[in-house]
Amino acid sequence: MSNTQELTTVRQDLHKAVIESMQNGGHEQVVHFYDHLTGLKAIVAIHNTWLGPALGGTRMWAYNNEQEALTDVLRLSRGMTYKAAITGLNLGGGKAVIIGDSRTVKNEALMRRFGKFVNGLAGRYITAEDVGVNTRDMEYIARETEFVTGLPEFLGGGGDPSPVTAYGVYLGMKSSAKEVYGSDSLNGKKILVQGTGKVGQHLVDHLIKEGATVYINDINQENLALVTKTHPSVKVVESEGMFDLDIDIYAPCALGATINTESLERLRCAIVAGAANNQLADEMTHGNMCREKGILWAPDFLINAGGLINVSVELEGYNRERAMSATENIYQAAQNVFKMAKELNITTIEAAKQVAEKRMEEIGRIKLSY
Ligand code: NAD
Repeated sequence: MSNTQELTTVRQDLHKAVIESMQNGGHEQVVHFYDHLTGLKAIVAIHNTWLGPALGGTRMWAYNNEQEALTDVLRLSRGMTYKAAITGLNLGGGKAVIIGDSRTVKNEALMRRFGKFVNGLAGRYITAEDVGVNTRDMEYIARETEFVTGLPEFLGGGGDPSPVTAYGVYLGMKSSAKEVYGSDSLNGKKILVQGTGKVGQHLVDHLIKEGATVYINDINQENLALVTKTHPSVKVVESEGMFDLDIDIYAPCALGATINTESLERLRCAIVAGAANNQLADEMTHGNMCREKGILWAPDFLINAGGLINVSVELEGYNRERAMSATENIYQAAQNVFKMAKELNITTIEAAKQVAEKRMEEIGRIKLSY
């Protein structure tokens, strides 16, 4: 087979994979963008716009190939639909990925080109920050399109959303404690926070203030040192043996999929509540395992929605108090999910998805009939 024939076959396979994945995941639109001048390669996935324009961050990552990037953007955009719906926002779910190492190939021209691409989608997709992309990049994108949020404060934006995300996670954790212990006080609770990055650090502040005993784990020594400097009582634990600790609450604030068969065989906590997206390695299997083990899993896309709330407030004219006060709804929303899961004898992820889908159908039906 010649090189050209081989390339054609690869492209046909990718095209087939896109269509199949869209059909399976219920995505509305997937758009690929190549710019030969800057070398930009990006994909935008719009999962659902029944509630409003699709909003979701842009992730820049050195994916090994386009298939890997596609799988990521499809999965992430679907998650954004559920996050916006369960939070009661009038937004749909979308996400973008830029293929490349943000540390070496990102520059103003590339981000502005990406902004032009987003602009071409005419408001069906609104972009924001994600891994590998910061408020400076949003500034570049904003020079080419109005469909961007997560701008720096001096441009009227909300700046870093992490404190708002951490506040929502903290309230989601308190709501979980109320469900399990009958009181939402975290005083004296032993809590392991994995990941002391932007969200983890703010979360630890809340937990210490409330009198919890906090353990932290991270692969980044500098981030660990920042926390122990501010809070000398916090104990650093190694990854090895971390899940065997005698703790009440585990807060995953680093990566996804840390709730898996291996960790669940060892975890002895009563609650899992953290900021990381896609914590359950497999939604069905590990959602059920949590339930069988008597671990209350607080749905990640519900309790980490503070960041999305923050950027959605920016679309109306930013106000930090409004973002914080809207984030407070997470406490009651989590209570409702726990109640529903108990009454219907289903997992908390099934309950959370049902709440989100109900809103999408009810409000989506009204909006589609305009
Ligand atoms: P961050 O990059 O600032 O921090 C992540 C931390 O996790 C870093 O300190 C990193 O060293 C650590 N880490 C990475 N791999 C690890 C491992 N194997 N073991 C232990 N530690 C590890 O990210 P962030 O903004 O704090 O976000 C944390 C999580 O919350 C991410 O999963 C993110 O997707 C999710 N989230 C963040 C926001 C937000 O507003 N920042 C909103 C919603 C969800």
